[in-house]
Amino acid sequence: MNPFEWVEATSVEGALAALAARPGAVLKAGGVDLLDLMKERIAAPARIVNIRNVAGLDRIYWDGGGRGGPDALRIGPLATLARIAADAAIRERCRALADAAGHAATPQIRNMATLGGNLLQRPRCWYFRSEDFHCRKKGGMQCFAQDGENQYHAIFGNEVCAIVHPSALATPLVALGASLLLRRAGSSREVALEEFLTRPEANVQRENALEAGEVLAEVRLPPLGPSTRSAYLKQAEKESFDWPLAEVAVALELEGPAGRCARASIVLGAAAPVPWRAKAAEAALAGKAVDDAAARAAAKAAVAGATPLAKNAYKVRIFETLVRRAILAAAQS
Ligand SMILES: Cc1cc2nc3c(=O)[nH]c(=O)nc-3n(C[C@H](O)[C@H](O)[C@H](O)COP(=O)(O)OP(=O)(O)OC[C@H]3O[C@@H](n4cnc5c(N)ncnc54)[C@H](O)[C@@H]3O)c2cc1C
Ligand code: SF4
Repeated sequence: MNPFEWVEATSVEGALAALAARPGAVLKAGGVDLLDLMKERIAAPARIVNIRNVAGLDRIYWDGGGRGGPDALRIGPLATLARIAADAAIRERCRALADAAGHAATPQIRNMATLGGNLLQRPRCWYFRSEDFHCRKKGGMQCFAQDGENQYHAIFGNEVCAIVHPSALATPLVALGASLLLRRAGSSREVALEEFLTRPEANVQRENALEAGEVLAEVRLPPLGPSTRSAYLKQAEKESFDWPLAEVAVALELEGPAGRCARASIVLGAAAPVPWRAKAAEAALAGKAVDDAAARAAAKAAVAGATPLAKNAYKVRIFETLVRRAILAAAQS
């Protein structure tokens, strides 16, 4: 591991100043992914700015905005996965998010890992994580997964780089229409999470649009009314803990006594380099009463157009099943 400077930030302003003052400085939240990247010699930061102890950045609250309408959820980037999973109001009002947080990694990791770090962690492709392979993501010419060991890789959007986006929480957050507040010295911007997470075609070496010197300061959800229902399902090889083979988040707006679907948002995780909106499935469900036949038709539409690689076609059937079950689970929640 390279020698590095350690800066203990006590405020967001202090963290921004410490980032700006030294090229090659990086932020550390829980440190779960950053430490892995350093041990794997993928990251060699000159300075680590520890934001773990910045007061207030772990806040979870509901913002009514004085409108008298439903509250909007705000989550600080330092909120741990364990806290998000255990928060009763999140579980009641955005169940998909609580379930994604509660099924990621292990209990120990969920106690360390933060929401911000989870969204910004690097991919787990074993070629990327091995210093023996100089693949496209590291500036090389080749994607070794295309013709190599690709059983855990993408089945959509996999032409340039076949990573699957590693963040379990990004899947429900995209389904629920989350946006991110990004701060830099003297300014801030808010960007939809779906636009922030970028495809390899935009820049194969990056997974998101975080700019140098920016701090993720808050994750924001739009107001969710009582008619919003959501569900998250994950399929992994092991029951105890594992990365997903496939995960699905569904958010439905239901209306009328028959519970017709006014709007559906269906997102596949571990399917593509970004959380993958299944737009054909969303369209198939719109205006329909959510029953088994409608869920089956939407699930079929969700996987139409998949482009699996030599060793991961098995994922297509898993996704079809998970989408159907997640739609029914959301409608019945
Ligand atoms: C065995 C194992 C199993 C796992 N299984 C899963 C799983 O099933 N699902 C899943 O989703 N994840 C899984 N993970 C990954 C784990 O959830 C992430 O590593 C963790 O969430 C990262 O959070 P952190 O706070 O430790 O991030 P850090 O390691 O501290 O940071 C990660 C990156 O985010 C940047 N960063 C952090 N916070 C900010 C901020 N506020 N603003 C700007 N940049 C920031 C850092 O600079 C760094 O680049 C697993 C990890 C392990 C080791
Ligand atoms: S999938 Fe992406 S990260 Fe993995 S080998 Fe191919 S280019 Fe590299």
